[in-house]
Formats: sequence, C-alpha cells, structure tokens
Amino acid sequence: MRASLSGRNVLVVMPTGSGKSLCFQLPALMTSGLTVVVSPLIALIQDQADALNRDNVRADLGIASLTSMQSPEQQRDVLYRLRAGRLRMIYVAPERFRSGAFLESLRGAAVTRLVVDEAHCISEWGHDFRPDYLSLRPIVVSLGSPPVTALTATATRRVQKGIVDNLALSDPVILVGGFDRPNLYWSVHRCASDQDRREKLVRALPKLAAGNGSGLIYAPTRKACEEVGAIAGNVLAGMGKRAMIYHAGLNPQERNDAQAAWLAGDAHLLVATNAFGMGIDKSDVRYIVHYGYPESIESYYQEAGRAGRDGGRSRCDVLSCFTDRKTRLWLIENDALTVRDVESVYRFLRASKAGDERTIDKAILFRSLDLNLTKLRLAVARLEGASLVQSFTETSEELRFTLGAETWRPRVAGLIEEGLRAQKAERLRRLGEMIDYCKTENCRRRTILDYFGDVEAPIGRGPCCDSCDRPARPPAAAMPATGPRVVMPARIEPGSVHDIIQAIDALRPSLGKKRLSLLLRGSASKLGTDSASPLFGVLKAASVKQVDTFLDQLMMWGLLRQGGEDEYFVYKVTAEGRKAWQERAPLDVSVPGHFAVARSVIAVGASMPYDEDLFERLRNWRRKRAAELVVPPFFIMSDKILRAIAALKPETALALLEIPGIGDAKLAQYGNDVIEVVRDGAGNNNNLDD
Ligand SMILES: [Zn+2]
Repeated sequence: MRASLSGRNVLVVMPTGSGKSLCFQLPALMTSGLTVVVSPLIALIQDQADALNRDNVRADLGIASLTSMQSPEQQRDVLYRLRAGRLRMIYVAPERFRSGAFLESLRGAAVTRLVVDEAHCISEWGHDFRPDYLSLRPIVVSLGSPPVTALTATATRRVQKGIVDNLALSDPVILVGGFDRPNLYWSVHRCASDQDRREKLVRALPKLAAGNGSGLIYAPTRKACEEVGAIAGNVLAGMGKRAMIYHAGLNPQERNDAQAAWLAGDAHLLVATNAFGMGIDKSDVRYIVHYGYPESIESYYQEAGRAGRDGGRSRCDVLSCFTDRKTRLWLIENDALTVRDVESVYRFLRASKAGDERTIDKAILFRSLDLNLTKLRLAVARLEGASLVQSFTETSEELRFTLGAETWRPRVAGLIEEGLRAQKAERLRRLGEMIDYCKTENCRRRTILDYFGDVEAPIGRGPCCDSCDRPARPPAAAMPATGPRVVMPARIEPGSVHDIIQAIDALRPSLGKKRLSLLLRGSASKLGTDSASPLFGVLKAASVKQVDTFLDQLMMWGLLRQGGEDEYFVYKVTAEGRKAWQERAPLDVSVPGHFAVARSVIAVGASMPYDEDLFERLRNWRRKRAAELVVPPFFIMSDKILRAIAALKPETALALLEIPGIGDAKLAQYGNDVIEVVRDGAGNNNNLDD
C-alpha cells in the first residue's frame, strides 16, 4: 500500500480473500484525484462498488461503476459526476475504453492511478485470457501514464513477468504474499494402479470423515466422479453420513441440490469435477482429496485451498497414479483449440448479417459449432490478435464485433497455429510442474510457495506436509547379510520389466541416471564399459526421453528410488520393487520400444508393414516444414518415426505419443500437423472405398 501511495507501479499477487482490494481502495480514498479500476467481471464490479457505497451510506465517497447493465440514465449520471470531478473511484470493464466519450471524460479528470484487477487475464498463458486487456497499455499512455497497480490472485512467476511486460510497468514493486496456509497439511500418496487407488480411498475415508466438518473430493472426469461418488457413498453410509456428486453432466436442479445439501452440512462429502467451486465459500472443509492430480499447481492450489478457511487444521491429499498423466494429456488434447475451430468461428462470424457493427446470438453459434464458451473466447482472442475481427464485446446473450482489416489466408492461419502450439506447449509444461509436485521429496508447502514466488512465508511451524514428516527416504532393499546375493539374470527377455528391475537390483555398483540411461540404450562409446552386462542395450530402440520416462514410471510406482546427494544420486531398487520382480507381480509399466507388442502383434521395426502412400505424404510434409524452419528434415523426424506413424496411423495426440521418438516437445510442435496428414489419408481412403 505504501508502494502504491508513493506513486510507483505495483503488481500485487495475493490469493482471493486476503484483502487484496484494500490495496487500492484505501489509497484511492486517502488521496485526491481519480482512481480508475478495470475489472473484467461486471458482476464483481457491481458488487464492490455497491459494497463500498453501502458501507458508507452517509458520506458519498464518490465511488461509482459504469457497466452496460446499467440503464442509459444511470450511465449518464455517472459520466456527469465523472466530468464534474465528483468521483474518486470508478469501476469499469476493459471494453469501456472503446468508447471515445468515456476516454475523453477521463482525460479531463486527472487520473492519479489505474488499477488493473484480475491482471492474469492479460497474460496469454492464463486460462482466462481477455483480448481487451492487451489494449490497456496504449490507454495508460493516452491517460498521461499514471502509475498502475495490477492485482491478481493467481500468477506464477512466468505470468507475473507477462503482466509486467504487457502493461510495460517500469521498475515495478512486486508484492507476493498470503499464499501460505499454515493450518493445511499437504500430502501425496502414490498408487500403483487404479485398483490400489480405490483401496487406498476406501481405507482412508473412515478416518477422514470421522470428525466434524465436511469433505470434498475432486475427480478429473465425470466418469471418475460418478465412480468415486458410488464408492464414497457406500463407505460413508456405514457411518450414517451422505456423499453427493456434482459435475457438469448433471442437470441444473441436481447440481443445485448437491451443492445446497453439502453447503448446509446435510451431505458430509461432495465428489465433484472442477466444474464445482467458483465462488463457493464453506469454512469447515476438513479434507480435500484429489483423486488424480489436476492440470497445474495453480488449479491445485485454488481447489485444495478451499480447505480450512476457518483456520482449523485440514488436509489436502492427492491420490496419484501413473495413469493420471494419460488422463491429463487426453483432457489437454480434448479441449485444445485447433486452427480449424478458429477458422470455423471466423467463417461463422463473417457470415453474419453485413453491417458496420455485427451482432450474433450466442445460442445460435453454440448450436452450429461444437464449442464451449472458453474455446469460443480463446478463438475470438486469436481472431482479434490476427486483426480478423475487432472491437469484440460479449454480453450474456450476444457477441458484438466488426470485421478487421485482415482476411483468412495461409499466412494468417499459420500465425494462429503457431500461437495455439505455444499455448499447448505451455499447458504441457504446467502439467510437468504438477507432476514434479507429486514426485518431490522436498517440502510440498515450500514447493507451492516457490511456485507463486511467495518467498517470505515462514516455514517450519505446525503441521506441514508428508515430506517433512517422513523420517528418511524409503530404504533400499536391505541386503540380508546371510541370504543369497541378488543374481543378475543371464539374459533379459525383450520387454520384460521384471527382468530389467532384477538386473538393476543386481547391478554393482549402482548407477546414476545418466550412466544407467546410457547402459540401457547400449551407448558403448560413451560408457566405455559394461557392454557385457545383460542390461546393455535392452532399450536400444528407445529415445533418451523415453528411457527417462520409463525410469520415472518405476519411481512413481515405488519400485525404484533415486538416492540423494549423499548417495551420488544412484538408482536403487526398493523393497517393493524387489518383491515385484521376485513374485513376477503384474505391473502396468510399459517398456519403451516394446509397447507395440502389448498393443497388438506388430512390432515397430524395419520389417513392420506400413502405408507407403502415407509415408510419402509424411515425407512431403516434413520437407515443407524443414524448408520453412530452415533445418535438415531429420531434425523434424527420422524416417524410422515416419514409418512407424505410417504403420500405426495415430489420429490423436495420445496415440501419437505411443510412437517411439515422439515426446511432449515433438507432440506440441508437430502433433497437429502429423495428425492432419494421417487423417487426410483416412478421409481419402474412405472416399475410395465408398
Ligand atoms: Zn513440509
């Protein structure tokens, strides 16, 4: 607040409900001049302005809002008071700045500070991206560059940088704080399979639900929500308590009933998808279980942060399983906006009745195009960014816009596609950070605070997390002094994960990540030794990345662990891992390079039959792409990868990821292209067959 009063640019990052709005309200009321507050949520604007005026009924504090929901008279009245210099604070939505008259009035009324609320909307990485926010910078300049205060409840360090850059805040004071929740206990339980996860939940629920207060379980999909709801319902019934479910597939009445019952305490537990939670304030939530991790630490913090609002001790648990990654990738893939979506929105908008300002009924648009509101907004943001449409505004029923100077042509489409790719790559990166949170052996509370850049929070008091409570890392399988030594298998059956674990168990000395990876891939020149080991080259066909993923899988399942600095980071097989290979327990870990054996009878190799026509088309695509990027074709993908694609014909990102040599980076960069080439082929074949 002091920084704000001294006339500097300020970025405030504080979670919801921690008194963020006081940061600008008090200074605004304490100084002379006009503070303009830009907020994208009209309802919220109305709330805040109303609340302030209500609290100070007797004194007219000179606070007003200007929204399209007000009547013309009300709007005129506000503008009049603005011009007469009788306002100290005015709340507006960003699109208000498109009105020349409003801008003119502002220029007349010395603006002493511009406040940008929900500032993460300015970052293209934010899921809430609002194109209007991008045009704020020139507006600040046109108002004589008053100091800016930007506020947000959720901004990673990357998004913070994006806000500072996009608003061109010079020498900003960045205040991050309030993210620490000392009454919450953070914990992650790794589950070996979906079955194991169900069992862990059934065992944990009676303990979690024993006390007063209520619980919340987040499930990643509607299907999971219903399954978990049924399981939890059974367990709780035995305790005389109720569980209800909430997801977007239920009708509004069912959703309302579930929410009301849970809020009133009639139902102890709510099992919900992330469709639940906006604006929910229930103080006595004692535990929040994530049945599978969410897409980012940001969403996780937001959802889990609903626990313990009353300050009482509460738990935030994640039940994670290796299969979660697949679910998350599927969800990212499923709601990723494609260039085709953007094009169809554009064609739809263009086809609207000609005129300077055009209007479209949202309901009609949704009926015609298979899109949700988020996708529509993202598509429009892309169209605005490419100057295809302009002056876009949105009410609850309608879209208003004018057509831009640009038309749909390959270069424009290419740029849009580039942007969409970058966005998807960012989502994959966030997912990676969430997975890291689940895997870390460091303090989870500290991990979250670091993620938001909240560095000053005191740590080390009260309950904290499972990492801090763990006395030591899980021990490596102790070598019984008298028992037999683990024997190196004479040969490793191709694709046998048990043999590989056994061999790693018998390996002396134990190896760190790099050397183990070299050994598994059979890189003799770099290793210079051990080429006689049965492990040598067992994952010959796999990429570095795939071997990494494979080792990560073994760790996620608790079969393998990596030592710390004191142990030179070497990998050791855990007691659980030893039991697994000894008992040949079924493991759902795929050995890279051997996935095809499990999937079908064909193996990926030179001898595998593939669609030669598709292979040629893929090579053509690669040639063009390589020319565009000015790199040699094999930089993009090797012939071997293209042949595998031509054999397996993946039509989704998930299927594509199954191809050896395709990791998250290649997927983000070329996935859409490749899938398109494959699909085009499928379409042609169908036509021929018809
Ligand atoms: Zn901790």
